Amino acid sequence: MIFEARASVLADLEARGVANAGTVSVLDEACSQRRWWVEQWPEGATYLAGLIAQDVQDALVDAHGRTDRTGLWPLCEGCSDGPLHALHIEPDLGGPDPAWVCDETGTVVAELGRLNR
Ligand SMILES: [Zn+2]
Repeated sequence: MIFEARASVLADLEARGVANAGTVSVLDEACSQRRWWVEQWPEGATYLAGLIAQDVQDALVDAHGRTDRTGLWPLCEGCSDGPLHALHIEPDLGGPDPAWVCDETGTVVAELGRLNR
């Protein structure tokens, strides 16, 4: 479960060119915390991948602000005007079937793990 979740989030970091030692260590930290969490609450497995993606997003915003591609991961590439903005996981709870959605337009961009390169 954790390995699949990690692979999905890593694929989306790579898709946007922000997979590096720093972001992968953020991902690994999120996975190790969520591993403990899902051991306490096995039913939470449905939400695991989406929650890890949200944890990584939060940590990257904290570390980078909303000023570059890393802090804005994953950047919405569908909106051509307006301020740059990140996509968000729907459903907000993290699952089931987590997908990246643009808050501005409500457009579903991709399933988690399937962002375009
Ligand atoms: Zn957008």
